[in-house]
Amino acid sequence: MQGRQGLQEAQRIVVKVGSSTLAHRTGKLNLYRIEQLVREIADIANQGKEVLFVSSGAQAAGMGHLGLRQKPSSIAEKQVIAACGQGVLMHIYEKLFAEYGQVVGQVLLTRENAMRHNQYQHSRTALLTMLSMGIIPIINENDAVAVDEIKIGDNDNLSAMVATLVDADALVILSDIEGLYTANPTTHADAKLIHEIPDITPAVEQLAGGAGSAIGTGGMATKIEAAKVATSAGVTMAIAKGSRPHVLRDLLLGKEIGTVFPAREAHLKVRKSWLAFGKDLRGDICVDAGCERAMRDQGSSLLAAGITGCEGDFAAGNTVRVLGASGQEIARGIVNYDIETLKKLMGHQTGEFPQLLQGEIKEEVIHRDNMVLMV
Ligand code: GLU
Repeated sequence: MQGRQGLQEAQRIVVKVGSSTLAHRTGKLNLYRIEQLVREIADIANQGKEVLFVSSGAQAAGMGHLGLRQKPSSIAEKQVIAACGQGVLMHIYEKLFAEYGQVVGQVLLTRENAMRHNQYQHSRTALLTMLSMGIIPIINENDAVAVDEIKIGDNDNLSAMVATLVDADALVILSDIEGLYTANPTTHADAKLIHEIPDITPAVEQLAGGAGSAIGTGGMATKIEAAKVATSAGVTMAIAKGSRPHVLRDLLLGKEIGTVFPAREAHLKVRKSWLAFGKDLRGDICVDAGCERAMRDQGSSLLAAGITGCEGDFAAGNTVRVLGASGQEIARGIVNYDIETLKKLMGHQTGEFPQLLQGEIKEEVIHRDNMVLMV
């Protein structure tokens, strides 16, 4: 079992825990659960492995702290509860990790930290230096300042970003569900847990459906998005139930719990993983089956001849998705033409370009060096 072995051998591990695991239904923190998780994480560190902890729960903690029963709806108020709650959360983590002899440090990130290449490098260096000093980074989105354009919005995607940022071997997402099932287990008694998902096909994405519980923001859909990013960056990902006793220990021993997404073989170069996750996606380019094969099997650049359609609002230099004939995302990359020009070029051989456009001619629509395969 490729994926389980990946978990067993992992030395650098990102653990993400969702609000629904960290907080009770009342919105107040589940201290019993938090203590158990801290103990497990400290024990992984004691084994000489490196752990990064992506913790949600700032907003939940803030609500409890301010005596609010319901999550406020305005952005400003959400920022306030996150600002108050983040401190409460860190205070608890400081105390509990110290009991097990571990030092922690808080890192708050936004999408910008992965979008801009220099910030990407700085965030990476900061996290790696913490690890080299034996410190456990406790990471969350910087909810108090993040506005829409720079917001990741959910910690599943944040944890995938962190995992690619530090070249982790494994990402474990702990949630209120065991993993991905063949159907919705709350409505289908015969739904079965899928132990391993080697390929994230459109069928798998469909199974993931929409967002989950009232407390957290993610559902299975954001976990599948995270799996796509993580596995293409060479990270093995697992989803498991946070309330299960010894969940981290058992997963990292290779026991068959949860759902595992094995890492894809090739480790992306740092710049490439930044490209896969950090950039805003501005549109989609659809390609035919021959083009898809050439890209997937030979890592070819994307040429206009194989393009069957394009959508969105992109300029030259923006990042777009490349979709195969079945609609599956096969790659992301920096496009050399804006959408209007591309509409004129699509389906044509490069030799015909001089008749179709003026100015600089680039043979590739997306050059292979600026492209990341997502399958
Ligand atoms: N960053 C949010 C918080 O700490 C949680 C986002 C999520 O649950 O995905 O409250």
